[in-house]
Amino acid sequence: MKTPKTRKSYCKKCKKHTEHKSVQNKTTGKRGALKRGSINRAKKRGLGVGYGNLGNYGSKPAVTKWKRAGSKTSKKIALKLTCNKCKTSKILQQRRSKKVEFV
Ligand SMILES: [Zn+2]
Repeated sequence: MKTPKTRKSYCKKCKKHTEHKSVQNKTTGKRGALKRGSINRAKKRGLGVGYGNLGNYGSKPAVTKWKRAGSKTSKKIALKLTCNKCKTSKILQQRRSKKVEFV
């Protein structure tokens, strides 16, 4: 993905279109819930304790070979636009792309 270093965009604070500087936002996407951690938490609360394999709480099958079928090769990229006048920043919608180039 090729994006310009600066672009004109609407600024909420200035209430008009101003020149914005764009950088790649570092925190892109949300991390999923920690599976192992949530199991540990459930056990502390008294869930999933007892005999046998207790479904979600029980042991998982041993995975000998990890194969990620159809994994995505691109990453979600969010661009951060900062207003040159008042320094207010906003985040653009995430898009999938292999790499970002600022031209
Ligand atoms: Zn502004």
